[in-house]
Amino acid sequence: DTTSAPNFIRHQIREEIEAGRAGKIVTRFPPEPNGFLHIGHAKSICLNFGLAEQFGGDCHLRFDDTNPAKEEQAYIDAIKEDVAWLGFEWAGPVRFASDYFDQLYAWAQHLVREGKAYVDDLSPEEIREYRGTLTEPGRPSPYRERSAAENLDLLERMRVGEFAEGEKVLRAKIDMAAPNINLRDPILYRIRHAHHHQTGDKWKIYPSYDFTHGQSDAIEGVTHSICTLEFEDHRPLYEWFLDNLPVPVIPRQIEFARLNLNYTLTSKRKLKLLVDEGIVDGWDDPRLPTISGMRRRGYTPASIRRFCEMIGVTRADGGLVDIAMLYHAIRADLEENAPRAMAVLRPLKVVLTNVPEDFEEVYEVPGHPAREDMGVRKVPFTREVYIDQDDFMEAPPKKFFRLAPGQEVRLRNSYVIRCDEVIKNAAGEIEALHCSVDFDTLGRNPEGRKVKGVIHWVSAAHGVPMEVRLYDNLFQVEQPDKDKDADFLDHLNPESLVVCRAIGEPSLADAGPESRFQFERVGYFCADRHASRGDELVFNRTVGLKDSWAK
Ligand code: ATP
Ligand code: MG
Ligand code: MG
Repeated sequence: DTTSAPNFIRHQIREEIEAGRAGKIVTRFPPEPNGFLHIGHAKSICLNFGLAEQFGGDCHLRFDDTNPAKEEQAYIDAIKEDVAWLGFEWAGPVRFASDYFDQLYAWAQHLVREGKAYVDDLSPEEIREYRGTLTEPGRPSPYRERSAAENLDLLERMRVGEFAEGEKVLRAKIDMAAPNINLRDPILYRIRHAHHHQTGDKWKIYPSYDFTHGQSDAIEGVTHSICTLEFEDHRPLYEWFLDNLPVPVIPRQIEFARLNLNYTLTSKRKLKLLVDEGIVDGWDDPRLPTISGMRRRGYTPASIRRFCEMIGVTRADGGLVDIAMLYHAIRADLEENAPRAMAVLRPLKVVLTNVPEDFEEVYEVPGHPAREDMGVRKVPFTREVYIDQDDFMEAPPKKFFRLAPGQEVRLRNSYVIRCDEVIKNAAGEIEALHCSVDFDTLGRNPEGRKVKGVIHWVSAAHGVPMEVRLYDNLFQVEQPDKDKDADFLDHLNPESLVVCRAIGEPSLADAGPESRFQFERVGYFCADRHASRGDELVFNRTVGLKDSWAK
């Protein structure tokens, strides 16, 4: 599939350009550094950077860092790494909303001087109460009519730390009866005696998201400020600030529907809980939909970008995207680009009784069936091999074409073998199979009979032991956080991680961190990026072979 789903913003910008109404396009991706990025953010990244790329514009990376209590340098570093890994380059330096704190403060003073902002002494609870509801207009604060001079003085004293947190706020003076509650004198500044990762202890007050965002866009010359639909109701406020301040340009806010994926969560807050509670192994656990988790799981940047193209961009909210579509995107990439190898996840020893002890043959096998550029790999064959336990059944049903007592199967790229004897230990467990090779079957069909099954295998003498981690959905239900009051932790999949002691063909011994393979008949796997060289190999299952995504 190379088709792209509709993207109404791209369409709109193309029309603006064709009508001669657009200059250089400037977008921005504005994460708050309070967690790692997830697949929902990838949608926003691909959209913002993609538009800039497509229309020869710029996309900025700007940290929306107005809430120092929840933010950390480690998140800033991780976010930069994720955006770069996805293959995007931000224009100019990394930016911070906190770079604009001086300008924002000057603009706050400007509003005060114009009689459009005031210092309010109501408590946060009182402010909420005075604000009214959807059906009931708000009431003015008793502090609403302070003089500009008094407000300027109080604001300055808030800034230098004369008041305690919660004692005062700065509010815009708009309309306490506005049908849109966001316009009922929104808060511009709160007192926070917090250390900030960028500005240190300079500020004792911090601007609100609403007072920061549009003005930061304006300072940077952003033309299209793209955000998710929950900000639609904030747009009149976004525009009010731009109309009432001497900003250099007027950016436009455009909203789109956020991505929701089934069987997972796309909320930083909930992902953080999984990390903090130790339910997963850090922010880059391969079961998380974080970009770094997906990277560790084996997703390629191209597959994530492809997925974002497939889902499109609309204003229709509420839909759940099927995670099978994401699996489809990575599978399509790996089908084409991952070299093949054989690995046995649950080894069962097979002794080939008519093969001499010192016998050894080495097959040259294509690295990829359709990619000559991937060359060949060497696959040794010896008297003892491992096959997967799943490929043997002592009492098979009718159409079991794999190995069973008295039954034949082909070892992939090698001979047809017959199972002659099942060797068990004292407890009655199968320890090994004794089989014999038909030496007339290398590269040709056996005489007088059909052997349907082909199974993968690894030479016992040459195979490399490895740990294979089989990852599955973290949740058992499509929408773990559907019921707001219920605990989404109740829906965890107890089998989201299964660890196997596996054996791989020798060509895998050189697999560097993050190298990806198709283990034939098994699935797609990626060498873990943290398991260092010299240690035992660790492979993470990215996705199985079977595609269940239906268009
Ligand atoms: P979360 O709700 O997970 O905490 P957020 O929106 O608070 O995410 P931000 O760091 O503020 O996280 O997001 C940066 C940008 O990514 C914003 O423009 C936001 O709209 C966008 N974004 C976040 N989540 C999604 C999503 N699920 N789908 C599309 N865009 C998203
Ligand atoms: Mg946010
Ligand atoms: Mg949020």
